[in-house]
Amino acid sequence: MRELKDLVRPNIWALSPYSSARDEYSGHDAHVFLDANENPYNQPVNRYPDPLQRELKELLAKTKGVHPEQIFLGNGSDEAIDLVYRVFTRPGVDNVVAIDPTYGMYKVCADINEVEYRPVTLDERFQMSAEKMLDACDDCTKVIWVCSPNNPSGNVIKREEIEILLDRFDGIVVIDEAYSDFSRKAAFRKDINRHPHLIVLNTMSKAWGCAAIRLGMAFAQKEIISIFNKVKYPYNVNQLTQEKAMEMLRSPYEVEKWVKTLLLERGRMMEAFLLLPCCEKVYPTDANFFLAKMTDADGIYHYLVDNGIIVRNRNRVTLCGNCLRITIGTKTENTQLLSALRKM
Ligand SMILES: *Cc1c(COP(=O)(O)O)cnc(C)c1O
Repeated sequence: MRELKDLVRPNIWALSPYSSARDEYSGHDAHVFLDANENPYNQPVNRYPDPLQRELKELLAKTKGVHPEQIFLGNGSDEAIDLVYRVFTRPGVDNVVAIDPTYGMYKVCADINEVEYRPVTLDERFQMSAEKMLDACDDCTKVIWVCSPNNPSGNVIKREEIEILLDRFDGIVVIDEAYSDFSRKAAFRKDINRHPHLIVLNTMSKAWGCAAIRLGMAFAQKEIISIFNKVKYPYNVNQLTQEKAMEMLRSPYEVEKWVKTLLLERGRMMEAFLLLPCCEKVYPTDANFFLAKMTDADGIYHYLVDNGIIVRNRNRVTLCGNCLRITIGTKTENTQLLSALRKM
């Protein structure tokens, strides 16, 4: 195992973070705040928010079964993805390995940070071979990206294969579990105590129905989280987002109800798709979407656009020739999609 110090970029390891006004006073009992050049009027949004989102993390820790110090919160998971690059990978020197196809942001952030991105093609069932992933690594591979349930295929990546990566790869393994709320399979979030170099990503954008508030999270041992905290913008999660997220966490039954409904609808949609003449195959999924192989993905995509219905055309993505990715909507929305396809 490489030590964390050997994985983090030397400039980041040595970094003294910006110390905000709100960092310095914390822990003391105070009621007059004349330290941050804020306007005393226009409550409650006149004050800077808690830079470490302590109250929100306390609630989240209970829901997610981790300690508050094992949580990083960001402006969407996209912030956490970018931070992984900025913390661990030296531009022009290091590289990362990722399953292919998968979520596009891992590659975009690699390109932005000038880091070599090494995609490793999944098998025809969208499963990962740990052996192939490890073969793609060299001494400059800092990070392996796994997304499970994977986007755009929807399936969970086999736990045994991910375990092999965790045991044999001596760098950082990131598992993006944006869709784990829709899956009954055990989440890797629970395993961060056993693996010092594991980072698990979650988001409020999918099952929690909060894409607009931009709240993503990373779970890892506290040594990694504290490095993320020193690199992030001081006030990266705004007050309105923190408040809305706490409100959501106080009513988890709502989310459970949504998930149940969406999973029922998903079953109905996949069965209906199989009966469509324009659909050749639907792939098994553990997420709130499914991938469907069509007779002519481009043609059908444009036909649907003309009818005011937008799905995701994945035709040009690895292993996804002629595939559309269908998000599960409300019963009415789903039925509109089906009747449009039946009228083709
Ligand atoms: C939608 C999605 C996310 C969510 O990103 P946010 O920035 O939190 O909205 C993350 N990872 C994957 C794989 C996704 O599909």
